[in-house]
Amino acid sequence: MDMKALETISYGMYIVTTKKDNKNYGCVINTLTQVTASNVLVAITLNKENATNQAIKESKKCAVSILSEQASSNLIAKFGYFSSRDADKFQEVDTQDVDEFPIVIEGVCSYLIGEVVNIVSCDTHDIFILRVTKAEQLTEEKPMTYRYYHEVLKGKASSKAPTYQEETVSGGKKYRCTICGYIYDDEKESVKFEDLPDDWKCPCCGVGKDKFVEVI
Ligand code: FE
Repeated sequence: MDMKALETISYGMYIVTTKKDNKNYGCVINTLTQVTASNVLVAITLNKENATNQAIKESKKCAVSILSEQASSNLIAKFGYFSSRDADKFQEVDTQDVDEFPIVIEGVCSYLIGEVVNIVSCDTHDIFILRVTKAEQLTEEKPMTYRYYHEVLKGKASSKAPTYQEETVSGGKKYRCTICGYIYDDEKESVKFEDLPDDWKCPCCGVGKDKFVEVI
């Protein structure tokens, strides 16, 4: 199978948020599709291991913030590469409570709030069908596409994304970020990985050198 064919599918960039037992949960997704026009339904896909997935199953409701091209790499890394189980992703992020739901409004064009009407189990992921109960456009900024995220922000797919593909490596020494999958290639950089300063951070997700492993 030519995996390159799958890379030609278009996606957007979104942050899904919910609240369960007074705790906020959220994660980045790239799969959202409007399913029906009247009585609007949308479908979103989340990894089954995701804490946000589990929380939505219980709260039966979530919000989706549609990211704009102004969204920062830091915001995407915070919600894309770390688990709500380990980190308070909402700290230092502009949010607004709408219908008691935390909605990310930083780097966002618009948001939707939806109630779960169906969940379809698909191997590693669940598709949540949401009935949209509220929608609002916040800015006229251009929505961020998945291609823009990769080409302009140099972002990587999280290993939990439905579109994740293992990178194949060859040639000189390479180091992989164990959090986001970013590859530091000694051959392509002016400084060897070993010579990078101790405070160097992953350009994709912001973790330190200690989270990198050599790719053998
Ligand atoms: Fe990283």
